[in-house]
Amino acid sequence: MENIYGYTLEMLEEYLASIGEKKFKANQLYDWLYKKRVNSFDDMTNVGKATIQKLKEHFSLEKIEIVTKETGKDVSKYLFNLHDNNKIEAVLMYHDYGTSLCVSSQVGCNMSCSFCESGRLKKVRNLEAYEMVQELLLIEKYENVRISHIVLMGIGEPFDNYDNVMKFIDIVNCGKGIELGARHITVSTSGIVPKIKEFAKSDKQVNLAISLHASNDELRRKLMPIDKAYPLDTLMDAIKEYIGKTNRRVTFEYIMLDHVNDTKENALELVNLLKGMNCYVNLIPYNETSHIDFKKSSQERIMNFYDILKKNNINVTIRREFGSKVSAACGQLRANHEEAK
Ligand code: SAH
Repeated sequence: MENIYGYTLEMLEEYLASIGEKKFKANQLYDWLYKKRVNSFDDMTNVGKATIQKLKEHFSLEKIEIVTKETGKDVSKYLFNLHDNNKIEAVLMYHDYGTSLCVSSQVGCNMSCSFCESGRLKKVRNLEAYEMVQELLLIEKYENVRISHIVLMGIGEPFDNYDNVMKFIDIVNCGKGIELGARHITVSTSGIVPKIKEFAKSDKQVNLAISLHASNDELRRKLMPIDKAYPLDTLMDAIKEYIGKTNRRVTFEYIMLDHVNDTKENALELVNLLKGMNCYVNLIPYNETSHIDFKKSSQERIMNFYDILKKNNINVTIRREFGSKVSAACGQLRANHEEAK
């Protein structure tokens, strides 16, 4: 059985054609699944009985399960149980401009970034597209909200699960279904260069964010092993290629780690690296975790860093902190759950 929530509209059209049905029925199915949100094929009253029977034989509507939810100010964090008992997280944030959902793309992660909780568990498997779609569907239902933005910044490296992530984007973006605007979707990568290039060639209008976190290779290599495979010059070339092809502005994420990457020299190096690029830098106050030694930069150090970028005409913002009070920024909900068992 295939889970129907993992099918793009196009895949569904192809499937229908293959069983001798009219393609346009895919639109009807999408309407039932994503506009009306029914949970059974029998509720799809304008689809003929014979078709329903075939669908039931081929597709399941099985859902992932919510295990727990933690709530903080303007933030709700969900832990899900998957059909094979693996656990993943998703985080819903309430902003003044809407609600954004931070989606996980893998169980665990192989990037091994030294500051990151998610990477303490090696990748167990990729998430299927349907599992990512259901993170959104279940939270919208449970929380009774419409999610306006998606960031692929949960557990996992989206570009290490490229095909499923692209399917997921197509499904949530599709005008016949959830209809979440491409410009409201952001994919974040630790910097897998071949996939950045592939992404540049795809005509997706979604935003790209790069986890940079360091201003030179020596430092970046210590924080992010991926830098050994794709050092900064290769990474920057790929990003310039992406900007050239898409004409889109890239976001650089930069975690502020106390006395590690937050000096005046780091700021100036970063200016040199990014000068003239169509980009902006998002400074992220580090979310401390009990398992990892890094400390968050002081407000003063963050402001000094910010000022240097600003003075040198680099677009820069400081990320609002969500969820550091509840136990679950960036993989912690899952980690705590596993350790409590
Ligand atoms: N693997 C992808 C997406 C997941 S991580 C990537 O690396 O971009 C999403 C972002 O959160 C990344 O920028 C990551 O470096 C950052 N991050 C990880 N641990 C963090 C922590 N404890 N505090 C703040 N940001 C963190």
